[in-house]
Amino acid sequence: MNLILLGAPGAGKGTQAEKICEKLGIPAISTGNMLREAMANGTEMGLKAKSFIDAGKLVPDEVVIGIIRERLQADDCKNGFILDGFPRTIPQAEALDQMGVRIDRVIDIEVPDEKIAARLSGRRVCLKCGATYHTEYKQPKTEGVCDVCGDKLVQRKDDMPETVLDRLKTYHEQTEPLKDYYAKKGNLRVVEGQEAVADTTALTMKALED
Ligand code: ADP
Ligand code: ZN
Repeated sequence: MNLILLGAPGAGKGTQAEKICEKLGIPAISTGNMLREAMANGTEMGLKAKSFIDAGKLVPDEVVIGIIRERLQADDCKNGFILDGFPRTIPQAEALDQMGVRIDRVIDIEVPDEKIAARLSGRRVCLKCGATYHTEYKQPKTEGVCDVCGDKLVQRKDDMPETVLDRLKTYHEQTEPLKDYYAKKGNLRVVEGQEAVADTTALTMKALED
């Protein structure tokens, strides 16, 4: 199954992508994680992306389209994949279509703007493996340490309150039109993000079935 997860920053796309990955055994592909990894490694692409990411803006389409084109050719995508954070603009969605990639389902996780700021300000991430945590809702076993790989947890620069509003604006202007784009194709399902992760997961799994 080839899936796309849509939703505002902090809506919980990454968390649901992990759950689906565990259940269906298909890889979760996060352009955000790939870009952060490139930044951490100081690659040319990482350096180019950094100024956009830190400012809460989108990285140019051609950069992320290139990343995805290459990633989808990997062997582990043969039986399907979950795209988390791509596409984020209409041209990115069109590029995916042009690659001949068939999308079976698009799940849009809806969380009201008022709740986004609190979710993002408490978010902590592991830059090494991409795992995410929350100071209140999803604490690691040991404070400040990644359960998965033991690296230290940090707050993303773009999760600071001053950047969050810019990211939400970017989301509404550039990414939200994708709902219509996929609704017209008939494969969009809307999931209301719940307080408890497990409740959102239950709704997400249901949205995969019907
Ligand atoms: P979130 O979903 O929490 O906003 P991501 O980790 O998906 O965070 O993305 C972080 C940042 O990486 C975005 O704000 C943007 O700058 C960049 N980015 C990730 N995916 C894309 C994409 N498909 N197109 C453009 N920029 C992207
Ligand atoms: Zn880790």
